[in-house]
Amino acid sequence: MQLGAATWPAADASETELAVLPVGSTEQHGPHAPLGTDTLAAAAVAEGGVERSDHEVAVAPAVPVGVAEEHRRFAGTLWVSPETFRSYVRETVESLAAHGWTRVVVVNGHGGNVAPLEEVCARLSRDGTADAVAFTWFDAVDLEAMGVEMGHAGPVETSLLLELHPELVDETEFDRAAAGAADHWGEWVGGVNLAHDSDTFTTSGAVGDPTESNTELGTRLYEAATDRLATLLDAVATRPGEE
Ligand SMILES: [Zn+2]
Repeated sequence: MQLGAATWPAADASETELAVLPVGSTEQHGPHAPLGTDTLAAAAVAEGGVERSDHEVAVAPAVPVGVAEEHRRFAGTLWVSPETFRSYVRETVESLAAHGWTRVVVVNGHGGNVAPLEEVCARLSRDGTADAVAFTWFDAVDLEAMGVEMGHAGPVETSLLLELHPELVDETEFDRAAAGAADHWGEWVGGVNLAHDSDTFTTSGAVGDPTESNTELGTRLYEAATDRLATLLDAVATRPGEE
């Protein structure tokens, strides 16, 4: 059940305790991919995981703005502070729990959201508000086994978009994206990343070469991510609560 499309009597009739909350970002993804890439990915992986799950799941609307100030110098990037983000996610999960959806999987599409989501989910669980865990799709998939690195707006994310929303990918910009791309994230010296903002190490905004993207890889990534999420959903649905 998609909450955004359901009526309140339909929500009231829901008997499941399990909900997913997709969380994304609105941030630069190179000259070839949309600002909403991470939100689109989180929403699609959530939907696919729910379809594959054996359990009924309430699907909350996706949170579209996350912790993404590192991309602030690229036009169109939006961000909130980690404090605001944690509060927003926490209160959204609290409201899900108030309706009986007390087992919540946050489905994340953005690296900058990972640390604050871990904190929020731990807090909610320890407080007994909800049994909450965060799932980040690209951390759940074994990218190494597929021979690819995550990067940013590189082959992984661009291939997933080719699978999900090919009309939003501008392949005529691939060469420009690749020409200004970094081959890894950040500026590392002595084990420390000196860079706070992405424009200091990538001029196109990309990390990794999007010309290596293809729909076949996108299909495999989507299958793997939704499969991992379905496994998690089934476990969260049946495990004993913390209380
Ligand atoms: Zn992304």
